[in-house]
Amino acid sequence: MKLLLVEDDPMIGESVAEALHGENYAVDWIRDGRSAELAVTSAEYDLILLDLGLPKMSGLDFLRHYRGQSGDAPVLIMTARDSTPARVEGLDAGADDYLIKPFDLDELMARIRALLRRRAGRTQPIISHGPLTLNLATHEVTLANTPVHLSAREFSVLRALLDSPGSVLSKNQLEEKLYGWNEEIESNTIDVYIHHLRKKLGANFIKNVRGVGYKVTSA
Ligand code: CA
Repeated sequence: MKLLLVEDDPMIGESVAEALHGENYAVDWIRDGRSAELAVTSAEYDLILLDLGLPKMSGLDFLRHYRGQSGDAPVLIMTARDSTPARVEGLDAGADDYLIKPFDLDELMARIRALLRRRAGRTQPIISHGPLTLNLATHEVTLANTPVHLSAREFSVLRALLDSPGSVLSKNQLEEKLYGWNEEIESNTIDVYIHHLRKKLGANFIKNVRGVGYKVTSA
């Protein structure tokens, strides 16, 4: 899962980015509205966290342009503007949720999970695939009711594959989901995670589509 964080306040940005990394999201942190516009043309995001008072272009203007260009990632506005007209304006401009500063990071994480879940058409924070279940809130994984221990990266790779069962994801697409801009990507890391997942879940669970990428077998 890759998130775009648009926030010019260094302290808030840092604490939110840190909390997101702690939940294994890949994060690109952008500090003004114009750079946010560039970011959404160069990468695909699963969710956008948007401050309204931003340098160069306001969060509302960014949001209107983004929706105007058919950008469809869920957008959660984080702002100190807590008047009702401001909230209505934000939601009408295409925001999916709204959090007033100062907010509790646990609440922010729960709202992000809820938005991502809704986007994937799920009402529970659990992905089931045959004998396998992933709990997105607790990160617990079970195979035929037996707990399986996955590293944070392995969990993220598996989740990305399970979010679109049956479709093939290329190594590049998997890397996009896993890493932010400022993180070094070592070559072959995706292969290594897939190798570990196969060892833990069974060799046939993830199929290699030669020259294209990986997919999970149907449940
Ligand atoms: Ca601001």
